[in-house]
Amino acid sequence: MIENLDDWKKAGQIAAKALDYGRKLVKPGTKLLEVAEKVEQKIIDLGGFPAFPVNIGLNDIAAHYTPTKNDETVFSDQLVKLDIGAHVNGAVGDNACTVDLSGRYADLVKASQEALDAAIKIVKEGATLGEIGKVIQDTIKARGFLPIVNLSGHGLDLYETHTEPTIPNVATGDDTELEEDEIIAIEPFATNGQGAIKESHHAEIFSIENEKNVRSSFARDVLREALEYNGLPIAKRWIKAKGLDFGLRELIKFNIAKEYPPLPEVGGGMISQAEHTLLVQKKGCMILTKLKE
Ligand code: MN
Ligand code: MN
Repeated sequence: MIENLDDWKKAGQIAAKALDYGRKLVKPGTKLLEVAEKVEQKIIDLGGFPAFPVNIGLNDIAAHYTPTKNDETVFSDQLVKLDIGAHVNGAVGDNACTVDLSGRYADLVKASQEALDAAIKIVKEGATLGEIGKVIQDTIKARGFLPIVNLSGHGLDLYETHTEPTIPNVATGDDTELEEDEIIAIEPFATNGQGAIKESHHAEIFSIENEKNVRSSFARDVLREALEYNGLPIAKRWIKAKGLDFGLRELIKFNIAKEYPPLPEVGGGMISQAEHTLLVQKKGCMILTKLKE
């Protein structure tokens, strides 16, 4: 039994409600920044905290983009991935959906959603990571698309948004078995491109990896504020300290902070994503981020 299961359930429901709220805000003419800030506020209003900045991936960007402080980008006719995390006392709910504002990628959206549904059906104690990856890959391929090979689902732990096990989106043959009471996120990504992502530049998300003494007052100020997030990912726009860029550069140089740049598809392909957080049980699983009435 998990001691703090109520926190995990609550975090899952807050993440689900925030995602449902957010997807309805994604409309042509609305600013990405407005959606991110409203969803993050919603999470707080519901009694949680953002487990990571609201990720908004447009078109070929799979993940790790969050609006800048003065972001003027607006939604128009993009394929939009909304990835939202909430935590309650460190217990994390992580879920995502895709909104197709273009009206041209309905099948691509279905591919990742169906892959997630198919994977959830086989999740239980003893299911292997390779089996899950194979179901995801087969389902996406049946729609004529490719899974993103170098993005994966993952375990979740207190104040940890990515832990073991790594849950592949392809048939790796990994015979590691899921265990009862593990909390995992499964997140298939489907693309009409080459099936992989790369790292780009201009990260807006970072986290603190090590606590060390720093020389400059800029770095110290940024670190002091960033430490309040307990190691969880942080948006640059959340930090009020002056000299953020200078201070953060020093934190990165000394391996105190780590940056997460946006992840575009290598061939510029369009990407869809679906994600749920699950509690692994003996004979199946509980979908913690399934929206309840
Ligand atoms: Mn996510
Ligand atoms: Mn995730």
